[in-house]
Amino acid sequence: AKQLGGNGHQFFQQEMHDQAMQRLAMETALRKAIQNNGLHLHYQPQVDALSGRIVGLEALARWRDPDYGDVSPADFIPLAEQTGLIVPLGSWVLTEACQQARRWHDRTDSDFYISVNLSVGQFADEGLVDNIHATLEATGVRPEQLVLEITESLVMSEPEYHIHILETIRNLGIRLALDDFGTGYSSLSYLRNLPIDILKLDRQFLSNLAHNSEDAAIARATITMAADIGLKVVAEGVETADQLRWLLSQDCHLVQGYFFSRPLSDEQISELIQLPPA
Ligand code: C2E
Ligand code: CA
Ligand code: CA
Ligand code: CA
Repeated sequence: AKQLGGNGHQFFQQEMHDQAMQRLAMETALRKAIQNNGLHLHYQPQVDALSGRIVGLEALARWRDPDYGDVSPADFIPLAEQTGLIVPLGSWVLTEACQQARRWHDRTDSDFYISVNLSVGQFADEGLVDNIHATLEATGVRPEQLVLEITESLVMSEPEYHIHILETIRNLGIRLALDDFGTGYSSLSYLRNLPIDILKLDRQFLSNLAHNSEDAAIARATITMAADIGLKVVAEGVETADQLRWLLSQDCHLVQGYFFSRPLSDEQISELIQLPPA
């Protein structure tokens, strides 16, 4: 038994070693991609369903690696979070999104905002606020043309510190959106204390409705309450006409999802907003 235990232990170590080496290789590839312009952005429209107009575009990071192929952000964003690479990655995303927004705004009269995801890990960077400010200055994007999307996890950890930074960002005139809202129902009451402008209802929120009338009641209450405290509500993951109809019946008309558009390349967005390619 002693012998076997020893072998098992060794095998376990080997497997852990292999996994660590794989992660390290992927981390190295991601670091290279960030440095060598190997990432790109797609943009998903946020639409006012009443007017059909695009009110905003959410920038979503994409990574096509020569060795790994297309890696999902659901995989490389957590990797970036765990390794600290989220700071240079996030900074690249913000710059790229603002540069692109400026190009679009220069060539059209529409005043859609660009929405950029901010990870918790980026708040560990003391230069975050200065970097955001400098990026706006350098690209000529006005603060009201930028929305930053944050998640509840940010305000769950070190709430005072993080809320202070959020207030500083908001004082620059940038709007803040709370992403993925509605996956936990406990958080309704603290909403009013958060310096946010927009509530993004998670797509789980919508998929639950059809099956459960209690969920529908909670969804209805959330939308009403958000409006009551002056928040704009954007419903995420709208995939069907039924979902849209339900949202409209609740006076929720800002929507994002495959029903309107998948995330698109910058060329595709240029076509959508009827611009000739740059
Ligand atoms: P998210 O911020 O909640 O972004 C929305 C995700 O839902 C996107 O996935 C989008 O493609 C997907 N989606 C949009 N409409 C629909 C729909 O109708 N149905 C379904 N099933 N899905 C829909 P994506 O692009 O794979 O990104 C996944 C997550 O990775 C994002 O979730 C975000 O948390 C993170 N992420 C992506 N880009 C960045 C980035 O630049 N920075 C940071 N910090 N995180 C990012
Ligand atoms: Ca313009
Ligand atoms: Ca988001
Ligand atoms: Ca989301």
